[in-house]
Amino acid sequence: MRQKAGLNRSILNAAWGRIGAYLAYKTARAGGVLVRVPASYTSQRCHVCGCVDRVSRPDQATFLCTSCGWSGNADTNASLNIRAAGLSSMDVEISGLPGTAKRQPPGKAA
Ligand SMILES: [Zn+2]
Repeated sequence: MRQKAGLNRSILNAAWGRIGAYLAYKTARAGGVLVRVPASYTSQRCHVCGCVDRVSRPDQATFLCTSCGWSGNADTNASLNIRAAGLSSMDVEISGLPGTAKRQPPGKAA
């Protein structure tokens, strides 16, 4: 059973790896930049005051900050946390992302 769990986990990790590579490719092709951010606590952190408290999620859809009182849609709060994390890490992440290296324009020899 433990071996099966390990196999399932590696299959799942491989699938996420392919999705990440595909997103990076498509984003770069469209002129954008894919920024990876850690998902930890993005759904439990208040985007206004930064307080992390799992009690701030009274149900799946609602975020109600136990510190500052901000309330709203939980997905909206999480997406604002993800956006802030991405923006704060852009300087570091841009240079390390695949597909963001400078390229010669077509027809020009390197
Ligand atoms: Zn708050």
